[in-house]
Amino acid sequence: MSDLLAERRHAIAVHEAGHTVVAMALGVPVTSVTIVRAGYSGGRTNYDPINLPETDGIIATGGHASTERWKVRESSQVHEKLPLKWPGPTPIPTRNDHKKLRRYAHELGKNPEGDTHYWINGRLTLADDILMRYWAAVEELVPILFAKVTLSGEEVTPIWEPHSPKLGATTEADRAVENSDKTDD
Ligand SMILES: [Zn+2]
Repeated sequence: MSDLLAERRHAIAVHEAGHTVVAMALGVPVTSVTIVRAGYSGGRTNYDPINLPETDGIIATGGHASTERWKVRESSQVHEKLPLKWPGPTPIPTRNDHKKLRRYAHELGKNPEGDTHYWINGRLTLADDILMRYWAAVEELVPILFAKVTLSGEEVTPIWEPHSPKLGATTEADRAVENSDKTDD
């Protein structure tokens, strides 16, 4: 594998690990995650379908949030909220996420010229909150995903479990879910 290919695959692993950790933290079981390329998408995180666009929107922004947080992981910023902006359909790893987010925003009646952008950035902030809280899980997942290329749900669970919030504890993830059930404008 060329260095460039390895670098690209690693970037995809960081992106998919973000989707995975955000989903698990929101109580949505991931059934598989892969960095095998398929069409326009560099990888894919599969999880139980949820009919909650507000929550699924947070998961959809988790890949980009992870990419951005990875860039600051060796600085003190990794303990702080990041001032993130949704990049739109580019770069390529966010293309399908972008489509999904636009569709959800439409379903929720957001105005494409106005509050859609605001709504997506709101999801991104919540995803980043979750990743800040569970960053250790991302750090653990990325090298395993990079090495194994595809992980089943059964393989993801024991990686996630030690990081999962204790029963009854109120966490950032719980608050994100609570907030996601409310209208956010
Ligand atoms: Zn993605």
